[in-house]
Amino acid sequence: MTDLHRLSIRELSEGLKQAQFSSRELTEHYLKRIAKIDPKVKSYVTVTAEQALVEADAADVALKSGHAHALAGIPLAHKDIFCTQGIKTTAGSKMLDNFISPYDATVVAKAKAAGLVTLGKVNMDEFAMGSTSESSYFGATGNPWALDHVPGGSSGGSAAAVAADLAPIATGTDTGGSIRQPASFCGLTGLKPTYGRVSRFGMIAYASSLDQGGPMARSAEDCAYLMNVIAGHDAKDSTSINKEVDDYVANLNGTAVKGLRIGIPKQYFNVAGLDADVKARVEESLKKLEEMGATLVEIDLNMTEAYVPTYYLIAPAEASSNLSRFDGVRYGYRCENPVDLMDLYKRSRSEGFGAEVQRRILIGTYALSAGYYDAYYVKAQKVRRLIQQDFLKAFENVDVIAAPSAPTTAYKIGANLSPTEMYLGDIYTLAVNLAGLPAINALVGFDKDSLPVGLQLIGNYWSESQLLSIVHQYQQNTDWHTKRAAIAEENA
Ligand code: GLN
Repeated sequence: MTDLHRLSIRELSEGLKQAQFSSRELTEHYLKRIAKIDPKVKSYVTVTAEQALVEADAADVALKSGHAHALAGIPLAHKDIFCTQGIKTTAGSKMLDNFISPYDATVVAKAKAAGLVTLGKVNMDEFAMGSTSESSYFGATGNPWALDHVPGGSSGGSAAAVAADLAPIATGTDTGGSIRQPASFCGLTGLKPTYGRVSRFGMIAYASSLDQGGPMARSAEDCAYLMNVIAGHDAKDSTSINKEVDDYVANLNGTAVKGLRIGIPKQYFNVAGLDADVKARVEESLKKLEEMGATLVEIDLNMTEAYVPTYYLIAPAEASSNLSRFDGVRYGYRCENPVDLMDLYKRSRSEGFGAEVQRRILIGTYALSAGYYDAYYVKAQKVRRLIQQDFLKAFENVDVIAAPSAPTTAYKIGANLSPTEMYLGDIYTLAVNLAGLPAINALVGFDKDSLPVGLQLIGNYWSESQLLSIVHQYQQNTDWHTKRAAIAEENA
């Protein structure tokens, strides 16, 4: 079979169960594609070919026994922020270029236990700080729809790998948009779950009160399959919530679009810098949902202007604290010939971290310093609460809230936006993390340059099933999610 990479997760699962192909064949198929096509896309930092085949053979044994998990034998790629035992985990940084974790992240362990086959680790912005994946120590990744454009970030490698059919599904993480924005730039479905739904254990921390892992795939259905594997309580993560997990696949048709109330925040559609094509495609998708029976309700989210400044105080503050562990002593990069301990700390950190990471550590340290703590950090936390309350008030009247995932489509590699320009591009995604809410991106069309446009739906707490179900039904009534970039059509 030459087109195994065109099958959905459900089709792969059925094909494996019915022995139409083996996991070894499927895995070899993907490894071949990676070898041929990834040199152009550069989505993988590490390809674990040998281990993948061992895992595939084990899955084939399980499949023969008839007792395999629904996803047994299906390949996936992990963002290089999830610790993988025995395989390098870099977080896109020189600091961790030599780091081999002694344990698996819970998400990785759960994927393994279900029999999923790890193809490798994919590229990302250094320590997940960025929106282009260009800050990776390992260089930029190309957007499969236009290789000289960025795939978005920070989970840009995950998005590019799936969009180029170099993995059927991938894990990502989202601290301020890093699943939804690259999904938007690469034309995918990506779900950022409620804070606490997916374990953060073994996920290298950026901003702990905002970080959340989730699935990136071609469709809501594919995402639902991966959510069924990775969601759930984990005693190893004190912020993970002990609450029953939905069967996301069984619930795919569980939410009625007829009668659904979709909130349209006035402020979101008047943002300076919102691209006309993005606005038009998002509005068309909302019209489609209206045709399917939903009601559009104009709402107010008055705190919109506060999103960027609030996030860019809290996230760097937490980052400065989290990244203090990389000191050149315990693990990670260590400078050559330090003259004393201070020199070891200073040079290991200034040589090991890239420019954007250093900028955030400085901003965060400043915001947390004794003289400025109240004026910046505490103030930002108070505003964060107001942002959350703004959403909760909106959810008294509507079921979900619609927005673009990003104000623009993908921009060129090397566009070299100033930090402020880049941060402003996160306007639609940051508040969801500040409030801890779930949100999903879906492909809803293309701009004049044939680059993908994404619609974001934000739900109330624990509404992952609802979000997946709405997008699934939209995808049953449209065919955007079946569109493939030219490079994905290439055969290995
Ligand atoms: N672009 C945002 C940032 O740079 C969000 C990144 C993320 O979600 N990891 O912080």
